[in-house]
Amino acid sequence: MFCPKCGAEQSGTNKFCNKCGANLDIPRTHGRSESSLSGLGFEDMNPKNFVYVGIVLAIIAIFFFPYILGIISIILGYVAMKRGEDRLGKLTMIIGVLCTIIGLAAIYAASLRPTYYYYYL
Ligand SMILES: [Zn+2]
Repeated sequence: MFCPKCGAEQSGTNKFCNKCGANLDIPRTHGRSESSLSGLGFEDMNPKNFVYVGIVLAIIAIFFFPYILGIISIILGYVAMKRGEDRLGKLTMIIGVLCTIIGLAAIYAASLRPTYYYYYL
């Protein structure tokens, strides 16, 4: 058995890693649901990563799929907020909302001016 956090070999009876102190009870559920998000390290992810991904998706949402990507960025901001990144999480949600509005407005503007829309296609 190996520590999921630092990779140090464990005796098997340890509840906590003898090297980094990580809880070794987690791998049991890890093995049961390997295909789930927790198996991919989603649960252990730094909440700041949600912020970064959320902001990047929000910026992409201005240009592509504002509805889908905007909502994902808002959710990521919410998750980051729930995991302790209160300010950054809120910021991500606000950016997500703004970028969704800008993206949808761009689609609306393009639909009002079909000649420009087709020109840029
Ligand atoms: Zn460890």
